[in-house]
Amino acid sequence: MSVVVLGSANLDVVIALQRIPSPGETVLTDTISRGCGGKGANQAVAVARSGAPTTFLGAVGNDDAGRMLLDGLAGAGADVSAVRRTDGSSGTAYVMVDAQGENAIVVIGGANAGYTDLTEAEADIIRRADVLLMQFEVPIETVTAAASIARAAGVQVMLNAAPYAELPADLLENLDLLIVNEHEAALSAGTQGTPEEVATVILGSVPGVLITLGAAGSLLATRGTEPVRINAPHVTAVDTTGAGDTFSGAYAAATVEGLPAVERLRFASAAAALAVQERGAVDAIPDRARIDEALRHYYPG
Ligand code: ATP
Repeated sequence: MSVVVLGSANLDVVIALQRIPSPGETVLTDTISRGCGGKGANQAVAVARSGAPTTFLGAVGNDDAGRMLLDGLAGAGADVSAVRRTDGSSGTAYVMVDAQGENAIVVIGGANAGYTDLTEAEADIIRRADVLLMQFEVPIETVTAAASIARAAGVQVMLNAAPYAELPADLLENLDLLIVNEHEAALSAGTQGTPEEVATVILGSVPGVLITLGAAGSLLATRGTEPVRINAPHVTAVDTTGAGDTFSGAYAAATVEGLPAVERLRFASAAAALAVQERGAVDAIPDRARIDEALRHYYPG
């Protein structure tokens, strides 16, 4: 039982500053770090560390960043043998973080932006999966094509619609599960309301929706069944970067494991609760042993 994650891989260049410069201003710092990032790569790492066989599909540049991204993914246990190495640079995110934790981000699409079509070999990898998990940091036409290939092969299609983009009808019709935070859920539904109300509207377009509610937990609604809502564990969050990616990846892993709905949500919530207690994105994504231990602690019985 395997998960294919199709999406972006970015080199994250994180620059820590006292404050983010205004236009025309120069600010000095020597605190800079580089790491593996991008929603696709983050979610692939989360699936793999959650213990499910994982294949990552995407593109990196033929540069040092590309090698680092592939090493990071492979190190987490993801199969990267089908990742494209393209001419030019890897996707790069420049993240400025000020002393209050506020950030300003510039993303250069690089190889991700050039991932505009799928080869027959990539299509075959999708067909052999049990779950296909995607996001919106690669071109939407590729996401749409992959969803159609997966649907035709009976593969369960999950889309984390982030960063938010309007969903075209030919993508919506091939989705099994839409994963969104509260803000994205309201945009998808075109209305505000309680999570249950918003989910009901979204279920008019897709068979399932999973709304993450930050520290308030998450809600899973699927057509024809009662919605399931659970609380997030009470923890002290120090950095919520990548919480949604950790949650989505862990949820996909729990799905291929065949866990029932409540158990899938608990597993993903435990993983995300661990992630928010550490700084960084990929570095904060927990492995299976830590998730299992946290589950016993956060959701006893
Ligand atoms: P991000 O963009 O920060 O990665 P997101 O906006 O996509 O996150 P959220 O709904 O904020 O998604 O968080 C995803 C999940 O992470 C939540 O459903 C919850 O399980 C967990 N989570 C987030 N913040 C907290 C918190 N403060 N305490 C415990 N769990 C949290």
